[in-house]
Amino acid sequence: MRGPELEIEPKLLAGWGRTAPTLSDFVHARTSEQVVQAVQAANGRGVVARGLGRGYGDCAQNAGGLVLDGPGRSGIIEVDLERSQVRALAGTSLDELMKWFVPLGMFVPVTPGTRSVTVGGAIAADIHGKNHHIKGSWGSHVLSLRLVDGFGTIRELSPSQEPELFWATIGGMGLTGIVVDATIQMTPIGSSFVVVDTDRTDDLDGVMTLMREGDEYYDYSVAWIDLIATGAHMGRSILERGRFATREEALAAGRADPYKYSPHQLISPPDLFPSGLLNRLTIRAFNELWYRKAPKLKRDHISSIEAFFHPLDMIEDWNRLYGQRGFLQWQFAVPDEATDVVRTTVERLSAAGASSFLAVLKRFGPGNIAPLSFPTKGWTLALDIPVAANLDRLLDELDELVVAAEGRVYLAKDSRVRPELVPDMYPRLDEWRQVRNAADPEGRFCSDMSRRLNLI
Ligand SMILES: Cc1cc2nc3c(=O)[nH]c(=O)nc-3n(C[C@H](O)[C@H](O)[C@H](O)COP(=O)(O)OP(=O)(O)OC[C@H]3O[C@@H](n4cnc5c(N)ncnc54)[C@H](O)[C@@H]3O)c2cc1C
Repeated sequence: MRGPELEIEPKLLAGWGRTAPTLSDFVHARTSEQVVQAVQAANGRGVVARGLGRGYGDCAQNAGGLVLDGPGRSGIIEVDLERSQVRALAGTSLDELMKWFVPLGMFVPVTPGTRSVTVGGAIAADIHGKNHHIKGSWGSHVLSLRLVDGFGTIRELSPSQEPELFWATIGGMGLTGIVVDATIQMTPIGSSFVVVDTDRTDDLDGVMTLMREGDEYYDYSVAWIDLIATGAHMGRSILERGRFATREEALAAGRADPYKYSPHQLISPPDLFPSGLLNRLTIRAFNELWYRKAPKLKRDHISSIEAFFHPLDMIEDWNRLYGQRGFLQWQFAVPDEATDVVRTTVERLSAAGASSFLAVLKRFGPGNIAPLSFPTKGWTLALDIPVAANLDRLLDELDELVVAAEGRVYLAKDSRVRPELVPDMYPRLDEWRQVRNAADPEGRFCSDMSRRLNLI
């Protein structure tokens, strides 16, 4: 115990990929005063916040130091229904925001592929969704936030109040301080249903052409790529694009309650799966089935929020399917002109037999001004891969291709990039460090990731 009120327990923590667990002192801080107390109590190994642990790598763990579940409190502080603005505690999940506000005609401005992320985690990673080409990333919808800095002071930040620290916190991977609450600009919606168009393409060029020519007409767009297909079918894909249905469209489609939102989970697999279960054979079978089941072309079908945005959430703890050895996610962004990097990576990963049942291609619009924000205009490819012996070298080579194209990998998903590549991927790293260091001169905020990648 470092203070009478703080509840602290030793805990082995890992990211969603479960690759490198480490032991930390896990602190349950329930109030902003307790967050301040925990920050002041941090020893030489420092402190980092943790949301719902959906970062894939080691960003929300801190070997030998404190990990703060304090912002784990969830709840709403204020709502302005007229302006669709919500002030929420940092530990509030997007799932909760949707359950509370979809029935009132509001949706989160940006949602990742899972709704089990917190407001704090969304800010720290500056998350993006299927609508980046239209709406940008999460940080662009944060109107203000309160941050506990390295002095234990609570600071009010916004794009106009201390803008440098505000933008350093957006995408700053929890290393500028602990966010305790934030005001978010939500998106008004006419119903809780999505009107979706589906296109199945025979190869990668087909899907990239459709996306380049048509994404601007859709609010949301994402392509699933079959990474196992080779030869003429390399990169065959299912492209799904959509927009929220109006109230009238939902009613006309027979949805009696246009704002109905009741997502449910089907199963939670036990933690017993052998690491080799998801191998090339099983993933090939899954991919074949998934590809064949999609219509070649379908227009205007009505989907629920959970089916369109969060299909993976139907299986709680699906990361257990990869077994104890875990898996990694590799996601990069490259400019529009670097189409060849997308093609080469798909080619090389398919040829190397890297098995992924979750390979996703999206288009990014222009990035925001946060120095460490991941999205930049162009393409982004994300894939889950079971950990395998020959993978590191190939991914190292592919990272270099990404850097040569002035691209970067996504820190929230990283568990393995070589640290010397990070300043090339994030050329404003030093500028970010200066702002960060002024807010935390003693370097209290740190994580396994910040040490692995020499971020601070
Ligand atoms: C299935 C799946 C799909 C995903 N899809 C996407 C996607 O489409 N787009 C995308 O952008 N991301 C995606 N992600 C990644 C995920 O959105 C981010 O990693 C997000 O940061 C996780 O939020 P979390 O609350 O779980 O935070 P954690 O994983 O616990 O922490 C992530 C980072 O946030 C920091 N943090 C958490 N809370 C606070 C706080 N209160 N104050 C300061 N820092 C804090 C942590 O220190 C850490 O650096 C996906 C992840 C999964 C598992």
